[in-house]
Amino acid sequence: MKKTFQIAAALLCAFSMAGCSVRNDQEPVQMDFFAMDTYMTFTAYGDGAEQALAQAEEEIRKLESEWSVTDESSEIWAVNHSGGEPVALDSETAQIVRFALDMAEETDGALDPTIYPVLEAWGFTTDENRIPGEEEIQTLLANTGYEKVELNGSQITLRPGMEIDLGAVGKGYAGDVVAALVEEAGITSALLDIGGNIQAVGSRPDGTDWRLGIRSPYGEGTIGALSVSDCAVVTSGNYERYFIGEDGKRYGHIIDPATGHPVDNGLASVTIIADEGKMGDALSTSMFVKGLDQAQEYWRAHQDFDMIIITEDGRVYLTENLENRFVLSESYGNLEVHVISS
Ligand code: AMP
Ligand code: MG
Repeated sequence: MKKTFQIAAALLCAFSMAGCSVRNDQEPVQMDFFAMDTYMTFTAYGDGAEQALAQAEEEIRKLESEWSVTDESSEIWAVNHSGGEPVALDSETAQIVRFALDMAEETDGALDPTIYPVLEAWGFTTDENRIPGEEEIQTLLANTGYEKVELNGSQITLRPGMEIDLGAVGKGYAGDVVAALVEEAGITSALLDIGGNIQAVGSRPDGTDWRLGIRSPYGEGTIGALSVSDCAVVTSGNYERYFIGEDGKRYGHIIDPATGHPVDNGLASVTIIADEGKMGDALSTSMFVKGLDQAQEYWRAHQDFDMIIITEDGRVYLTENLENRFVLSESYGNLEVHVISS
């Protein structure tokens, strides 16, 4: 009886709020869907939110069909099966490939969109995981290297045997595209969650920061909460996709292009907070590859982003701007927190 009453009261409340336009603006519109191999949850507030999110989903599906490595009608598939011949790209695809190649250079090859043949050998593209032999890895590495890709305007040429993959930057780039779309529709408050990559449009409807839960790399739940507005929050970690080899070791889906082996440097996850999703995505993957010392060095040399590094042995490193923006969850209160200062 009591429960029925509570539900009725809640409904009454919802209806009376719907009658008041100011309060109505505070009611979020939410949409979930599966795309780009991951779950997406889009939340937006204000007039036109529903239409803006529907448009955003449509855009995500368009980008997915252009950038998929497995869809035979995608532009990337055409590039990867071009047998050394030049391929003309759509201007948006050319832009993201240019960005990935530039970031590969900027990170000294920690990010490398040509690592795909090695990723395939480890079975990460088919989920039939295996540990390739060292000789096989070395042979495949000869077919990688971002500096060998020729991109002139929108025309790309790969050497035979080479393949590219936008897996490390695509979702971040897509986040920027849909955030811009939502903003153009007049929305000033939205959270676009692209498989754990968060694109925060503006702030909460009441003007305060969003409080985002950062997933724990050690298991279920969140390791802490981050207060931010108008930025992208992107995480890379070995807990997302990995397999346990016959040797009992854990092998993650992020490959160190220098060795052709999954990264195994003691890091559990890297979260990047950046103005743009594409930058956050490129940096989360590449800082994960670089490891604790080199990632800190990179941050000190750039300082146009913020970073949370979590190690496998329970240490948390925050760049100095995050000191007052990140709080550990109660159940992780025992972790050691270090501040990275400039
Ligand atoms: P992310 O989740 O953004 O860190 O991206 C990881 C995905 O990028 C993997 O699933 C691979 O498809 C691809 N990848 C793995 N290692 C690298 C690397 N070193 N550089 C570029 N892409 C990579
Ligand atoms: Mg990434």
